[in-house]
Amino acid sequence: MELFADIIIDISHSRLDQTFQYRIPEPLQGVLEPGNVVEVPFGRGDRPTKGYVLRVTEYSACPPEKLKEIARIETDLAGAESKLTALALWMRDYYGCTTVQALRTVLPFRKRAAQRKKRTVELKLPREEAHLLLEKLRQKNQKARARLLEALIGEPVLPREVVTGSLKITASVLLALEEQGVIACESEQVYRTPEVLRRLREEGEDGRDTASETPAEAGREVKQANTAETIRLNRGQQNIVDTILSEWDDPDCREYLIHGVTGSGKTAVYMELIDAVLRKGKQAILLIPEISLTYQNVIRFYHRFGDRISVLHSRLSQAERYDQFERARTGDIDVMIGPRSALFTPFQKLGIIIIDEEHESSYKSETVPRYHARETAQKRAALECAKLVLGSATPSLEAYYEAETGKSRLFTLTERATGGTLPSVTIADMRAELRDGNRSIFSRILYEKISERLERGQQIMLFLNRRGYSGFISCRACGYVIKCPHCDVSLSLHRNGRLVCHYCGYEREAVSRCPECGSPYIGGFKVGTQQIEELVSRNFPRARVLRMDADTTRGKDGHAEILRAFGDREADVLVGTQMIVKGHDFPHVTLVGILAADLSLNAAHYQATERTFELLTQAAGRAGRGAEAGEVVIQTYVPDNYAIRSAAAQDYLSFYRQEMAYRALSGYPPAGDMMALHCTSEDSKKLDVAAAYLAQFARKLARRYEADVIGPADEAVAKINDIYRKALYVKHPQAKALTAMKNVIEQYIEINTGFQGIRVQFERR
Ligand code: ADP
Ligand code: ZN
Ligand code: ZN
Repeated sequence: MELFADIIIDISHSRLDQTFQYRIPEPLQGVLEPGNVVEVPFGRGDRPTKGYVLRVTEYSACPPEKLKEIARIETDLAGAESKLTALALWMRDYYGCTTVQALRTVLPFRKRAAQRKKRTVELKLPREEAHLLLEKLRQKNQKARARLLEALIGEPVLPREVVTGSLKITASVLLALEEQGVIACESEQVYRTPEVLRRLREEGEDGRDTASETPAEAGREVKQANTAETIRLNRGQQNIVDTILSEWDDPDCREYLIHGVTGSGKTAVYMELIDAVLRKGKQAILLIPEISLTYQNVIRFYHRFGDRISVLHSRLSQAERYDQFERARTGDIDVMIGPRSALFTPFQKLGIIIIDEEHESSYKSETVPRYHARETAQKRAALECAKLVLGSATPSLEAYYEAETGKSRLFTLTERATGGTLPSVTIADMRAELRDGNRSIFSRILYEKISERLERGQQIMLFLNRRGYSGFISCRACGYVIKCPHCDVSLSLHRNGRLVCHYCGYEREAVSRCPECGSPYIGGFKVGTQQIEELVSRNFPRARVLRMDADTTRGKDGHAEILRAFGDREADVLVGTQMIVKGHDFPHVTLVGILAADLSLNAAHYQATERTFELLTQAAGRAGRGAEAGEVVIQTYVPDNYAIRSAAAQDYLSFYRQEMAYRALSGYPPAGDMMALHCTSEDSKKLDVAAAYLAQFARKLARRYEADVIGPADEAVAKINDIYRKALYVKHPQAKALTAMKNVIEQYIEINTGFQGIRVQFERR
């Protein structure tokens, strides 16, 4: 049997969708795999050219005798591109997308930007010889040459612009002198530098004290950012580093989870690990959520690793981004710090991937392929024999489940590295407030504490958790929330006044009285950050209030500016959405008020409780980061809810156990696996019909696989920009079964004309 390979020739080229077919010679059959780098005859004169195998197939698109044959496989030179190509192909198969979409995601360095060059003219003659030559040139009246030589005697390296500009030397003169060996015209690749690094470098001229030291010399001692203070890892931290390094060559020990409270010294551990990895001659990727990618965080790494690090963030231009990847590929840097997409940094000798705050939902892509950085990092680490270290104060259920089931090794850090106590937490029962006639957004206890802290000149953060808020209906008298009888997620109130489930499509009338207690105080929550800002100002006229939300941070540095102002104590109260809870240290904040803890609890999503626990724990962790002890008030209508109770007690394990029990009961991940099919179209009727057919087909298929199909239903936002959106969910205990079902469904969609004009995207979990 003959075998053929689909090959892509130049992945740095924009025409990724162009593949070429080649015959696979006998000896390579069964050996050649997708991702392999091969040499093939290509183009005019059949030039030997490097290609990447995308697919091995039994079918040829044209008569086999017309196809050329692969010359050889390059095994020794399996560079970063080849491994990343293999990763892209895995993403295509697992997440469901086209080869081109996968390659575009993984190989962004394809977008070659015009390179910037620094061009110089350099004197190549020893001084005396140059003087002699200058005499001669003057005698011969060769004015231009003499002018250049004289300038170069004064300054042996001149920028090319100066030479051709103010000195008015022509290219032909330069060429002639270069041929005589008098000068050399050099051009050097200049990389565009991300803003934050530029700032660090400029300040570094005097501020930096350790960057000249090699990491090896820095040894075990971690020098701190703004101070010269050195710290020694404590026992818990050192144990993590030692264990991981002792298992370095064991391919069965690949993944680690550090569950450490905020401030327990995880970052210090990351730095030590990266240092060790660099000493092994390998490279490191550190993923940090974009929002935590602040100057303060990056500077710690810069002080330790100097110019060996680079940073990616969303505000980089295409060219700057390209340059950072190029520096990684050529070995100009060894550490890349950045959000999700930094995972695809083309290091040739990747040693470790670290994912900080691994629970963050920003690690999941919202565009096709909808990959999750954690899963994809697992795959990349496996492909490149690198270690994967996850860190979080509130690990995702997935990560903790893997540690519990032995897939990864768990480390726990329970105390803040600098000492200090965790804040004390009070739960304010808003049902009782209503009962006692307090209809304000502030509970009495929060009101009192705000006044108290203001009097003492301390700072306060008020957090309104609207994340994933989907218009649910709840009772202010008893806390009852109207849920779907089939899916155990809250129903959302629609404009037409009906309550809808976004998983299965179940609908019912809205209510005017609570079905549980009969109270008329049932409805949606309408308060936003702006109203809270106004309320604080009205209630506490002397307080200076700052607000941070999507509106106030729109400008380029809006986010950083608000944080700076609050950090410099230009305000007493910071009101904000989840933006304010992430990783910013304000030592003068002694009170954190969580105004409506339930808002995210009742989001119409199976992860709503997990997200709430995360946010509450992180928000609570903002209080008392300085010398003064901190206090937290959590306002809620469901004070007995386990997410609220365990967040208040800072008890992750108790939360994990209860939440896992719920997931197991309902077959949600990580107890089982789940896949979503998102369907979109401009034509709502066509979408309805297509989604119904898709559901019918999936249900038939599900019988064979023993899977569960839920839906179709409108998405939480049923229409965006005049595009209608519907979703379907498939549940099965095993990921493999879902992948198999996905493949069949993909084919069904491809051959079925009813799906023209309908886009279907797959999403895992
Ligand atoms: P995390 O990443 O877990 O939030 P960090 O690594 O940022 O924690 O550490 C929190 C604070 O504790 C930092 O100011 C850091 O300098 C300090 N720190 C970390 N490890 C130690 C240590 N072994 N001894 C003293 N201070 C430490
Ligand atoms: Zn009620
Ligand atoms: Zn439902």
